[in-house]
Amino acid sequence: MTVRNCMPRYVNIALPVPAGKLFSYHVPDTVSGPLVGVRALVSFRNRELTGVIVEELAAPPTTPTKPVIELLDETPLFSEALLRFTRWVAEYYFCSWGEVLKAALPPGMVPERDATVCLLRTPTEEELAALEHRAPKRAAILRLLMQHAGPISVGYLTRQLHSESLSAQLQALEHQGYIALETRAPALPRARTLRALELAEELRSEPERFRTLMEHLQHRSPAQARLLSVLYAHAAHSTAPLPLREALRRSQTSTTTLRHLLQQGYVREVTLEAPENVLEADEPRLAERNELLLPLNPEQDYAVRRIAEALEAGVPKVFLLRGVTGSGKTLVYMHAIHIALEHKKSVLVLVPEIALTPQLIDRFRMAFPQRIAVLHSRMSPGERFAAWRAIRRGDVPIVLGARSAVFAPLPSLGLLIVDEEHEPSYKQEDPAPRYHARDCAVMRAHMEGAVTILGSATPSLESMYNAHTGKYHLLELKQRADGARLPSIRLVDLRDARRQHRLRGNFSDELLAALQQRVERAEGVILFHNRRGFARWLQCPDCGYIPMCAHCSVSLTYHKVPKLLRCHYCGYSTPVLEECPQCGSPTLEEIGSGTQRIEEELHELLKTAFPQLRIARMDTDTTTRKGSHRRLLHQFARGDIHVLVGTQMVAKGLDLPHVTLVGVINADMQLFLPDFRASERAFQLLTQVAGRAGRRSDAPGEVLIQTAHPEHPVLVAVQTGNDELFYHDELQHRKAALYPPFTRFVVVELSGVDEEKVHQHAHFFASCIPPHPAVLKLGPAIPTVVRIRNRFRRVVILKNLKPLDPAAHHLRSVLRTALAKYQRRYAVSSVRLTVDVDAYGML
Ligand code: ADP
Ligand code: ZN
Ligand code: ZN
Repeated sequence: MTVRNCMPRYVNIALPVPAGKLFSYHVPDTVSGPLVGVRALVSFRNRELTGVIVEELAAPPTTPTKPVIELLDETPLFSEALLRFTRWVAEYYFCSWGEVLKAALPPGMVPERDATVCLLRTPTEEELAALEHRAPKRAAILRLLMQHAGPISVGYLTRQLHSESLSAQLQALEHQGYIALETRAPALPRARTLRALELAEELRSEPERFRTLMEHLQHRSPAQARLLSVLYAHAAHSTAPLPLREALRRSQTSTTTLRHLLQQGYVREVTLEAPENVLEADEPRLAERNELLLPLNPEQDYAVRRIAEALEAGVPKVFLLRGVTGSGKTLVYMHAIHIALEHKKSVLVLVPEIALTPQLIDRFRMAFPQRIAVLHSRMSPGERFAAWRAIRRGDVPIVLGARSAVFAPLPSLGLLIVDEEHEPSYKQEDPAPRYHARDCAVMRAHMEGAVTILGSATPSLESMYNAHTGKYHLLELKQRADGARLPSIRLVDLRDARRQHRLRGNFSDELLAALQQRVERAEGVILFHNRRGFARWLQCPDCGYIPMCAHCSVSLTYHKVPKLLRCHYCGYSTPVLEECPQCGSPTLEEIGSGTQRIEEELHELLKTAFPQLRIARMDTDTTTRKGSHRRLLHQFARGDIHVLVGTQMVAKGLDLPHVTLVGVINADMQLFLPDFRASERAFQLLTQVAGRAGRRSDAPGEVLIQTAHPEHPVLVAVQTGNDELFYHDELQHRKAALYPPFTRFVVVELSGVDEEKVHQHAHFFASCIPPHPAVLKLGPAIPTVVRIRNRFRRVVILKNLKPLDPAAHHLRSVLRTALAKYQRRYAVSSVRLTVDVDAYGML
C-alpha cells in the first residue's frame, strides 16, 4: 500500500505578461504524469490567465503559492526542445517567455476567462457627441477607454458603468471599428474532420482472402471490386486511411457501392482530423504539374548535393541559396525536402505571407500531396488546432507557413527552409515577441541539429555578410532554369521625357509603346507602383492646406473608389472635402499618384486603341476578400486580364510564363525613404519585380523603369545586374555608419497620449542607460511620424557592436539595468515602453 503524500506539486509557469520572471503555483498531488509543457489556467492579479508550465520544482518555493485553477492539457503541448527554443527567443528579443509561448500557440488556444477591450480608434468630439444622443452607453464606454492607456476587462467596464451586460454595446462598437474585443475561448476549438476509409484488418493482413473475395466480386459487382482494389493499393504504401472522397473518385464508384461494402464489414470508415485547409471547391488551382519530375540542371544538382551531404551528416549547416529570379530555387527546396523525408526527418518551410503566395503553395501541394500542412492566417481556430495536433503527433512531415510557423511543433525536425529570406514581413513589429522568423529559424535549426536553407534572388545584407564571413555556406544559381534569359532592363529618364513632352500623366512614350506592343501580342504586363489609393494627398492651391489624419501625424490618402480620405497608418477615413476648410478655396489639388490613378490613366490612354483592354489592380484594397488574390492571379494567368497594376504584392514570387513586360511607374519613390535600409529595399523590390518578366525561354522579357535619377547606384545595380558591387558598397556604408549587419539595431519606443509626458519619460529612460563600450546610445529622438493612433512617440536607439558583444550579453545587461531604474520611478504609467531588438520599422 502506498502512503498518500499530501505535498502538492509545485510548478513554475510562464504567463503572457511582460514580466521578466516566472510565477510559482501548485497542483494537487493527485495529478500524475508530466506537467512541463502543459497549459494551465491560473489566477493572476485578479485576472485569469493561461500560461504554460515550464518547470516542476523539487521543493516548495519560499513564498506561499496559489493553486492552478485548471490544467488544460492531458499531455504536454510543448516539447523540451520547443521550450528551450522559445526561451531563447524571449531572452534575445527582450520579452517574457510567456509572451513567446502565447505567440507560438495557434490563436484561440489561449483562453482568457475575462475578455478584454482595447480602443482601436479614438472617436472625434463630433462622433462622441452624436453617440451621446443615440447610444449613451456606447459613448460612456468609449470615454472610459480613452481615459485608460491600455486594454481593460469587460468585468471592470461593467462595474464602472453599473450595468448588467454590455455585450450588445461592445459588439456594436467592435462592428464600427472603434474597439477590439479579445474574447475568451472556454472550450477548445473543435477540430475539423474528414471522413476516410480503410480495408478491414483481415483483408489487409491476409492476401489470400483478399484475392478470393476479389474473384468472387469481379463479376457480381465490379464497382465493389474497384473500390476494394483502390483501398488495397493505397494500403500497400501508406498506413493512413484514404479520404472518402478521394477513394470514391479514384474508383469511380458511388456511395451506394460503399454502403454495401461497409455493411458486409469489408471496409471500415474512420474519422480523420483534417491537417490541411483543403481548397474550396471554387478556388482555381495555380499549379498544374509536379515539378519534382523535372530533371535538375547542373547548378541545381550541385546545390542539392551539398544540401544532401549536410542532411546525411546531420550537421546544422546554414545554406544561403542565392539564385537569380527564375533560377528554380523551388525545385532545389523540393529535392532537399524529398531527401529529408527519406531520412525520416520533418521539414518546416517559411514563406513571407501565405495570402500572397497561393501559387507557391499549390506547387508544393502538387509535389507532396497529403504530406503537407499549410498554416493559414484565414484558418478557423478549429482548423489551426487540428493542424497543430496533427503536426505534434508527427502525422504531417511538412509544414508550410508564414512567420509564426517557426514555432510549429514538428518532432525530429531535419530541414528548415526560409523562402525569400530578405522579406521584411519575417519581422514581427507588434506586439511582443518582436522576433525575426529567419533568424529564429537559424537558431532553432542550430538547437535541433537541423539544416537550414535561406533562399533569395536578393539576399539581405545580413545574410550576404554571414556568407562572406563563412557563417553561412553560399550556393549560387546564376542561370535561369530551363534556358530562359534574364530580362533586359531599360531606364527611362523622366526629366528628359517631361522636357521633351513625351510624358502623358505617369506614362512615358517608351512605356506606352512597349505596353501597346504586348497587348497586341496578347502577352501579360505587370505595372508596379508601390502606393495604393488615387492621389497621395489633397492640397489647397491657395493656402497650402493638406487634410491630415485626426489621430496620426500623416496626411490622408485620397481614394476614388470608394471616395474617401484614408489614413494608411490607422485606417481612419473621412469624406472627401469639397472645399478648403481653411480658406474656402473651391478646389483641392490631387498631389501624387496611387495605383487607382495609374489604372485610370492607362484606361484613358488606351481605350480608343484597345476597347477590349482589361486592367486589374492588385493591392490590399482589392485583395481583402478570401480567395480574391488567387482569383485575380488566375484570371491574369489565363489572359482574361491583360495588365496587372499593383503594389509590392506583384513583386512577390509570381511565376507566370506569359508576362513579358514589367513597367515601374516611378522608381524614385523607393529610393529616398528616411531609413538606413532604403537602398537595400529598393534594390530588392526592383530586382524582384523585374524578375517577373520573361520566365520561359520562348518569351524574352523586358523591363522599363521610369526614374528622374537614372544615375542612382541602386538603379545602376538593378539595370546592369552587377549586384556584387552594390552589396560591396552598401556593406562599406553600413560599416562606416555602424548599422546592421555590423551592429544590432535596437529601438526603444515610448508612446502615450500626453506628448510632454512621453518626452520626459524618454529623457529619463535615456539617462538610465549605463555607459558601455559595446552599446552606443542615440536620442531620445522624435520619429518621422510623431503621432500614430493618438499616441505621441519618442525613440531611444541603441547600436550594439557585434564584435564586442557577439551573443548580446552586454546589450541585455544594459537594457535590464536601464529598465529596472526606469520602472522604479515609473512603476505604473500611461506611457508605454517597448523594446525592439533588430528593429526594421522606419523611424
Ligand atoms: P525562382 O523561385 O528561383 O524564382 P522558380 O522555382 O519559380 O524560380 O522556377 C522558375 C520556373 O522554372 C518554374 O516554372 C520552374 O518550374 C521551372 N524550372 C525550375 N527548374 C527547372 C528545371 N530543372 N527544368 C525545367 N524547368 C525548371
Ligand atoms: Zn486653402
Ligand atoms: Zn491615422
